Formats: sequence, structure tokens, C-alpha cells
Amino acid sequence: MRPRASNADVNAVVRRIRALGLRPDVSRGEAQTVIGIIGDESRVNFDQMNSMAGVESTRRIQAPYKLMTKEYLQEERIIVTVNGEAIGRDGVVYIAGPCSVESYDQLARIGEQVKAAGAHMLRGGTFKPRTSVHSFQGLGEEGLKHLQRVGQQLQMPVVTEVRSESQVELVAEYADILQIGTRNMYNQDLLEAAAKQGKPILFKRGQASQISEYLSFGQYIVANGNRQIILCERGITPLGGAFEQDTRNTLDISAIPVLMSKTPFPIIVDPSHATGRRELVLPMSMAAVAAGAHGLIIEVHDRPEEALSDGAQSLKPDQLKELIRRCNAIGELARD
Ligand code: PEP
Ligand code: MN
Repeated sequence: MRPRASNADVNAVVRRIRALGLRPDVSRGEAQTVIGIIGDESRVNFDQMNSMAGVESTRRIQAPYKLMTKEYLQEERIIVTVNGEAIGRDGVVYIAGPCSVESYDQLARIGEQVKAAGAHMLRGGTFKPRTSVHSFQGLGEEGLKHLQRVGQQLQMPVVTEVRSESQVELVAEYADILQIGTRNMYNQDLLEAAAKQGKPILFKRGQASQISEYLSFGQYIVANGNRQIILCERGITPLGGAFEQDTRNTLDISAIPVLMSKTPFPIIVDPSHATGRRELVLPMSMAAVAAGAHGLIIEVHDRPEEALSDGAQSLKPDQLKELIRRCNAIGELARD
């Protein structure tokens, strides 16, 4: 719309879009209002729309994932801010904590240590996605309570996975950021429900997804009014069995600059699930930051040999401290 387009002009365009059976997405910037059209664009006569009052120009955006593009969002970079911590700026943000919340004591202990090591946010799974029904499934709501309590005590925003649509409301009550795990990247209903609760979404790449599919599914979050998205590369592998036997997944470092060129959302990397091996977490973290990642999400346990899940890939707190020192140094070079 033109900078001085009236509300009536904007409303008329919104009505026209609805009348075509499409969905308008209105973003009111300081200088200008931009109206996106969600749905089958072939129904739109762009010439007619161009001549409506207040319209400055119309443009067809071709990318299959247009709602995720810089062009559509009219932003070069989106900064996601949670309780004073910002992801997407120049400094590297560290999210650390155990794979699973195992007890209040375990989380309080580890939380204190990751904070002392320099982490900004606390992670901990409470609804765990597990391959086997025999594996530890997480503490559920009890775990969420521990997470919220420890986060408040340490003044750290907390991140945890929401595994199904039915858990969204509950998880959003306790968590500051809702994580969508790799297995759920394709779960439209979950993406829509999670987007609607309004808190930021840490949206992991599907383990066997192409970048274009990943961004395409991300559109369900934007289309439901949520632009607080943190993208996360966590390693890829074919469905049905790993291609590579020496690592749990294959970390796609090139996804970082590729995503950065296409979308304004911050991009973080999970070197823990990408590799599955503690000794690979440091080198892959350094590589991720060198490639431009805005943050890292890292599993940490003070007694990894006793961890109820993912002990083999969990760093000890002192290893996290060293990792943060080295990645910060690399981060400064990477952003020159
Ligand atoms: C996790 O971060 O706890 C997790 C299960 O990760 P992913 O979905 O990437 O496997
Ligand atoms: Mn894990």
C-alpha cells in the first residue's frame, strides 16, 4: 500500500482478497502496510488489484515457500527476543541443558552450571520423542514445572519440545520457546496450533527433508500469525537408517548460509543430535559458527553416564565453557 493509504483502502483490499477465497496477511510497518495473499495466486487479477485505491504496487512472489522469504516478510533479518535474550543479532546465543529433565535437582544443578559456563537459555525435554516405547518418555507436566521453576530462578528463558497438538496449551503455559522436533516438521496441525499460541517457535529441520520442504512447512507458522521463528539445522539422514554409520546424522553446514540467503529468520545449529558423539560437538559447533549460525543448542549433563537419554552426546559443563569461549572468538571473525 502507499505510505499514506487509509484504513478504508487497506480494508477494501483485504475484502477483495477474501472475496476470492484467499487469505490476507496484513503487516503494518511504520512507514507502510504490506498485504500478503495466502492461497492460490492464479485467482488474483493483479492488474485490477493494482488499480485499487491506496495500492502502490502488486507483486507475485514465485518461491514455493514465499511466506518465509525476505521479499515477502520485507525484512533482511528478524530478531527473536525472549525475556531480554535476542537471537539473530551478531553475538552467538547458546541454549544448553540436558536432553531430558530427569528431576528438579538434576535440572537445577545442570542449569546453574550451564549458566555459569555462559549459556543464555536453558533446554530440557519433558515430552520426549523416542523410537522405542521402552525408553524414558520424559516427565511430562512435572518436568515442565521443574523447567519453569529453574528458568525463573536462574533468569534464563526455557525451551522444550511440544510433541503433539494436544500438548500445545500445556507446554505454552510453562515454556518461553516451543520446540518442534525433527520428527514433527511435517505435522501441519501441530505447526498451526503451536504458531497460534504466540510464543516463539524453535523449528527443527526434518531429518530427511530438503531445505525447500523445510521452508515450505515453516509457512504454516507464518500463515498462522507467528513470525517469531528460530530455524534449526540438526543433521540430516535418510529415513529408515543412517547413511553414515560413524555419526548419528550428517550435519549440513551448508544449510546455514543457504537458509540465511533465503529467509530473514535466525538460524541455530544442534551439533548434539547431528553427531550423537560428545567429541564431535566442539568441532561442529565451531564450524557452524564459522558458517554464520546465530546460535547453538547443546546437550549438557554433569553425569552423562547416568543420563536417562543421550548421555553419549552430552557435554560436561566445563566442556561447554570451553566451547563457548572458542565459538565466541570464531563468531567475531565470522561477522567481519
Ligand atoms: C531434542 O532436541 O531433544 C530432540 C529430540 O531433537 P531432534 O528433534 O532434533 O531429534
Ligand atoms: Mn536428545
